[in-house]
Amino acid sequence: MSSPRSGPVDLPDPVPVRPGAPLPAPLPEHLTLLYRGPLASCDYDCPYCPFAKRRDSPETLRADRAALERFTDWVTATARSRFSVLFTPWGEGLTRSWYRRAITGLSHLPHVERVAIQTNLSGRTAWLADCDSGSVALWATYHPGEVGHERFLDKARELTALGIRFSVGIVGRPEHLEAARRMRADLPENVYLWVNAAEGLTYTDAEAASWQELDPHFRYSRFPHPSRGLPCRTGESVLSVNGDGEVRRCHFVDTSLGNLYDGSFEAGLGPSPCPLTSCDCHIGYVHLESLDLYDVFRGGVIERIPAVMPRRSEVKVAGKSLQNRHSGTP
Ligand code: SF4
Ligand code: SF4
Repeated sequence: MSSPRSGPVDLPDPVPVRPGAPLPAPLPEHLTLLYRGPLASCDYDCPYCPFAKRRDSPETLRADRAALERFTDWVTATARSRFSVLFTPWGEGLTRSWYRRAITGLSHLPHVERVAIQTNLSGRTAWLADCDSGSVALWATYHPGEVGHERFLDKARELTALGIRFSVGIVGRPEHLEAARRMRADLPENVYLWVNAAEGLTYTDAEAASWQELDPHFRYSRFPHPSRGLPCRTGESVLSVNGDGEVRRCHFVDTSLGNLYDGSFEAGLGPSPCPLTSCDCHIGYVHLESLDLYDVFRGGVIERIPAVMPRRSEVKVAGKSLQNRHSGTP
């Protein structure tokens, strides 16, 4: 990922509203916010982790908590727009109580349509029973080198029993293929399994076909999407927010649009083309207007759940469609 890592945050003071000051400009009817605070620690140690992992000091954890609470307070108080919020921490958020609390609270707000987080699903799931299951969702990634098949599958079953929306993903590395096939075969059939092309790998057509069998939308991930000059919803109805409230159009473009908490970002909102050569991360290119991904993932854009689940006949495990498989694993 190209975004610079944040250090401990120095939160700006709130800007007081002067009597008689003009009312804030209308925000877009719906805003998607991608939030990433300073938290960078993770309980897993994946060799392909895109982030340089670190231990977070108590000060960093305190700063992360304060920043997250400030962000959720802002969303809570800003009912003049409807929100979808995706937490995309550098590390694992759900092992921290403040992420669980933030998600639970946001899920109950009438102006929050969806709140989701990227997670390795290592933590307990019972807290999700306190969320509004109509708005909470998880983007869960299965890391076969870090967690056993049955343990991950048990978590997925717990989520299903709780009625929580979630997708399951895996990084398309050759050594993951058998684990991915086994997981696809055993996951509930209404759970979408996505495959991310592994960073730095190119796939022969035959290799890509093996992953495409498991995830009929793998083709979107296989190659970076040329994006320079193309219309992208980021900067207009999708924004990236970091721990100190700095707003950028997406996690990959460094230009600041202002700050969330003093309202300075609002003046910079509007349609503008992508300034980068290409976009190779789902949380970015899903917003490219030149792709049809808002249709493909309608109703589940931030948690990566397609509007229409791939048919069982489309999804194959080792060449056999799920439709024709008996239960059990290969
Ligand atoms: S679970 Fe995610 S953040 Fe943690 S080490 Fe693995 S890839 Fe990195
Ligand atoms: S296409 Fe990707 S890199 Fe370009 S603005 Fe959109 S999200 Fe950002």
